[in-house]
Amino acid sequence: MERLTVELGARSYDIVIGDGLLDAVGAQVAPRLKRPRTMIVTDAHVADLYLARVSASLAAEGVAASSLVLPAGEGTKSWEGLARLTEWLIGEGIERSDHVIALGGGVIGDLVGFACSIVKRGCAFVQVPTTLLAQVDSSVGGKTAINVAAGKNLIGAFHQPALVLIDPTTLATLPARELGAGYAEVVKYGLIDDADFFAWCEANGAALLAGDGAARHKAIAHSVSAKARIVAADERETQDVRALLNLGHSFGHALEAETGYSDRLLHGEAVAAGMVLAHQFSAAKGLCPAADAARVRDHLAGLGLPHSLASAGINSGGAALAAHMAHDKKVRGGKLPLILTHGIGRSFVTDDYGLDTVAAFLDGA
Ligand code: NAD
Ligand code: ZN
Repeated sequence: MERLTVELGARSYDIVIGDGLLDAVGAQVAPRLKRPRTMIVTDAHVADLYLARVSASLAAEGVAASSLVLPAGEGTKSWEGLARLTEWLIGEGIERSDHVIALGGGVIGDLVGFACSIVKRGCAFVQVPTTLLAQVDSSVGGKTAINVAAGKNLIGAFHQPALVLIDPTTLATLPARELGAGYAEVVKYGLIDDADFFAWCEANGAALLAGDGAARHKAIAHSVSAKARIVAADERETQDVRALLNLGHSFGHALEAETGYSDRLLHGEAVAAGMVLAHQFSAAKGLCPAADAARVRDHLAGLGLPHSLASAGINSGGAALAAHMAHDKKVRGGKLPLILTHGIGRSFVTDDYGLDTVAAFLDGA
């Protein structure tokens, strides 16, 4: 078992990583509770697989747990999902010191986190992420949100969890495509500022995806500590530091928007292609060695991840894609900050390039 701490000024919280930790959720959470009562929120897929184990671990500590099972899928991160969850929590008689348990992927984590930021003006919650994406990214850092008609994640709050409990063995049941999509976010940490970790990914990525437990544990621990460090440096993304986590995401969002955020392209798959495009754009502008851009493409392509517009199933022109980027919520004063790179592990934020330049690049990509 491994324990990391996210330091946020006067506040901090722990991230615990351990195989089989699902059966110790009760032991980890019980000491924090003011009364032996909690509420578990999960989705239908995860409930079938893991809810009974988590409930049993709480019961073993004498903690009574009620549970709400929401439909699986992005549609749950909505006003309707939020209304249902918040009304349920109030109906359950939630008290501010209770710890709501978010058991599932990023959809459940983002929704529960946001609900807990507003119910009774703020309740505690515990993240128990069960997808690779949630284990390496969304469960840590305190960004919570729902989607609205105008776009994804536009209504939300910063609300940090009280504790994050990661059991890598839950990945055994995760569909291969979801695993690959989460893996793209792992690679991202190497590309941001850690060339050695990217080289580790090149050597171990295939084993990780094939089920190697040690590789999974190492990738999760490394990713989470990188994210914790970045979040500690810039909790609310007021400087450029946290923005680096968006490497591949501006290009990726354009691809996601173009596919209508459908199952045709998962978020992490769009990020994989987006990271390649960010490196190729940087190379085209003379900022990054072409060989580094090729290494990124080859690694992701070798694992069967999207690594180009065509392999992401996109055949639209650059102007259409750049138009999606213009609606990115990171646009400031009409300019979209892009995460570009001087090479593997040397990313930076810039708003030197207009969307017309990006559109022309995408036409040739
Ligand atoms: P998800 O929560 O929809 O999970 C993907 C699918 O896997 C679902 O069908 C789910 O039921 C299923 N599943 C979950 N765990 C499983 C398991 N162990 N075995 C089998 N099936 C399992 O999607 P996700 O990729 O985890 O998260 C995506 C969401 O995360 C998006 O809404 C995105 O905006 C958000 N996100 C948030 C942040 C953040 O910082 N808050 C960062 C990145 C992404
Ligand atoms: Zn992402």
